[in-house]
Amino acid sequence: MTFINEYTTYCAICGGPIEDPDLDHGWLSQAVLLHSSTEFPNTQISELPAKNKGGPYFELLENAEAVTACNKSGSVLPSPRPLYIACHQKCVALAKRAMSTQEAASHRNLDGSMQHLWHVFKSLFDEASEEKLGPICNIYSAQAYGDIWRFQELVWQPGNGPELRFDSMHFEADPKDIPDMTSSILLQLQMLPVADLNSSSSEPSELPPFKDLSLECTAHSSSRAWREALAHGYLPWLWDLEPDVVAQKEASKPLGQEWNWELLVRQLAQVHLHEPRAVIEDLPMGLRNRRRIWRLVEDMLSEDSTEVVNF
Ligand SMILES: [Zn+2]
Repeated sequence: MTFINEYTTYCAICGGPIEDPDLDHGWLSQAVLLHSSTEFPNTQISELPAKNKGGPYFELLENAEAVTACNKSGSVLPSPRPLYIACHQKCVALAKRAMSTQEAASHRNLDGSMQHLWHVFKSLFDEASEEKLGPICNIYSAQAYGDIWRFQELVWQPGNGPELRFDSMHFEADPKDIPDMTSSILLQLQMLPVADLNSSSSEPSELPPFKDLSLECTAHSSSRAWREALAHGYLPWLWDLEPDVVAQKEASKPLGQEWNWELLVRQLAQVHLHEPRAVIEDLPMGLRNRRRIWRLVEDMLSEDSTEVVNF
């Protein structure tokens, strides 16, 4: 259960609330403040672990300094207030992983660096604070975060309809450490139709790029190739699948039948994997959140970076 009020500060990466650690809400309470003490083009981004003290107020863990996130100063101050952008620690880690992915960089022509991400956030902050002084609790357009307004407007108390809650639960699921992720994903594996049992190629064949992969199986590559690729990082947001668990699943196939690994990989590659009831219904909530955040980072760093995602 998450507590949100009008003073809540939201993570610049995932759009979820940053919470008081005393409430013990796990990853939602583990904050980092991004900060640059130097200006473009020599921007150096510091990542400062911090404790939320309510609303936009934080305490830096390294020296107990009190700072305010996304705080715009007026012209009466001799120098502008330093800018701190608030994020969850795990979202920063996920963003770095997404930015370091070769496939993402080559596909979108990204400059995958924290400096680039900082400049995106700075642009969004300048836009959000154009007509307002003081702290800004979020720096994004609402539609940019995959309908996260549903989550932010939700009052978490008895009486919420299960439908509404289901549509919003993934926003607060830990996107990095996902319990039993591999076995949960493999529960979705289907058997290859009998008619297709001998249709798949036995020749080694390079898999197509995972970007824009359709749901249509071609059998141009062997089922083994799809399985091995899945287990070893073909889909970069599934870097932590357990190859042993994948191998055990393969060994469990009924006599005379084959798992449809190609279909599973194609399903997992879909951009809208995060949406409720999209492509695969019963994915772990954390994985849905991870895929959502991964795409957000890619889109933030795409060429027109302030025109954030249109889900
Ligand atoms: Zn976040």
